[in-house]
Amino acid sequence: MTSEDLPNGFTGFSQRRPGFVSAGDALRRSRAERDALHVDTGSRGFRNTELQAARSGWQVPNVVKPEQGPGPEKSLWGKSNDFFPADMRKYLRVPEGGESGPQFDYEALADIPEVDKRWAWIEVDLGAIHHNTLAVKQLLEPGVKLMAVVKADAYGHGAVRCARSALSAGADQLGVATVDEAIELRDAGIGAPILVLAEPPSATIPLLLAYRIMPSVYTAEFAVQYAEAADSIGLRAPYHLKVNTGMNRIGVRFDEVIEFMRRVSFHRALELVGTFTHFATADAPDTMEFNIQATHFVETIAEMRAYGIDPGIVHAANSSAIIRYPEVHFDMVRLGISMYGYYTCPETYGVIDLIPAMSVHARITQVKTVPVGEGVSYGLLHRSGGFSKICTIPLGYADGYQRGLSDRIDVIMDGSKHPQVGTICMDQAMFEVDLRTRRSTGKLDPQIGDEVLVVGAAGNAVVTIDEMADLLDTVPYEICLGFGRSRLARIFTSSR
Ligand SMILES: *Cc1c(COP(=O)(O)O)cnc(C)c1O
Repeated sequence: MTSEDLPNGFTGFSQRRPGFVSAGDALRRSRAERDALHVDTGSRGFRNTELQAARSGWQVPNVVKPEQGPGPEKSLWGKSNDFFPADMRKYLRVPEGGESGPQFDYEALADIPEVDKRWAWIEVDLGAIHHNTLAVKQLLEPGVKLMAVVKADAYGHGAVRCARSALSAGADQLGVATVDEAIELRDAGIGAPILVLAEPPSATIPLLLAYRIMPSVYTAEFAVQYAEAADSIGLRAPYHLKVNTGMNRIGVRFDEVIEFMRRVSFHRALELVGTFTHFATADAPDTMEFNIQATHFVETIAEMRAYGIDPGIVHAANSSAIIRYPEVHFDMVRLGISMYGYYTCPETYGVIDLIPAMSVHARITQVKTVPVGEGVSYGLLHRSGGFSKICTIPLGYADGYQRGLSDRIDVIMDGSKHPQVGTICMDQAMFEVDLRTRRSTGKLDPQIGDEVLVVGAAGNAVVTIDEMADLLDTVPYEICLGFGRSRLARIFTSSR
């Protein structure tokens, strides 16, 4: 198992940077410290847990004697996020404070791990990105280039890290939606060719030239301004021509390409590096519309060549088309959603082995027994049967856990599924553990701090982004982005 270091210092839960403290570690450590405090009175003279508790305003638990020997992994009062006054010392510059009161060490404060500050996060498995990219590459004839599409922060997975993984797996180019997305990659030191998949506003022309970012072009006005700006400082103006073959979103209409090229190609600085189109129905069961678009595109390319125009790198296929239609791979393919591990349609299931890169995690923040008949969450729409514990997790629709999933999806705890119950709130959601469920490990006993999978797989249990997309009548793209572009912390792991 390998893992790269992160700006925020986390390397995932399976492998931790020295000093990283998970809730579980914190529990063990705090218990050890609690034991130690009986002898170590410290400079502030704390003598025992009762006194500590009194000073910090805590409730004194009924049981204060530490457990003997290796006890169960549960805290004495079911809480795994204990924090003791002695812990404050490492966040102070002068431990004793002084005349003017305590001096906080803001660097130490900033080092408190994100996942310990908020018990909800996503994990992105860069090994899966690498695997998926390689799997797609194996579908390509030798010499066909692969563009990794990392727009919208790599569909919420983190553009820079995903771009690096894809490039290390053999991707040749990167595709983005905006100039700022391209600049982020350049600022991270990525040198691969980058194509903006739409024509940007002309105010970005200096940025395109400065950062060597290739625009898509389909208006003569932009083409000429871009060319003249480049020419004025002795640079070339490389671009890809976008052809509209039927999707009717952006591009020069297929039957106007020759005329368009005549209008712009007089300019010496303009350099046609590639010609591409985009399919509207590559994921649809019916192939007729796809075939019409493919035919228009092939004819357009042939016509360009007949007129002596070199179309450069010819590309058309998105994930669906890459997997379903090898005949449209041309010189390059543009891989998006399947790089992140998602199938776009049943027709692609058997063809390729994809691994979802994103999982969504949380820790339980409260556990309660709700008397039979009482309601749970806004609207009290879920009613307790009385044989369950209602557990709260601290993520909600502000984190991409969409409200429309309320009462329709499961979470995974201890390798088994439990139903999410009640309305999903903005910042929190509840799920129910049926206490009558017996498992090989004994009775289920959820505790504060226990880890829950909102999306992911454990044992035989799996909750997928595809499942959520189906329930919400949308596509996995939107669900990934919902979690990935939210305020959830993002942790990169690499399992393969
Ligand atoms: C987003 C995008 C892609 C990638 O599509 P997927 O379906 O995610 O593979 C390819 N080409 C263009 C022009 C795009 O905008």
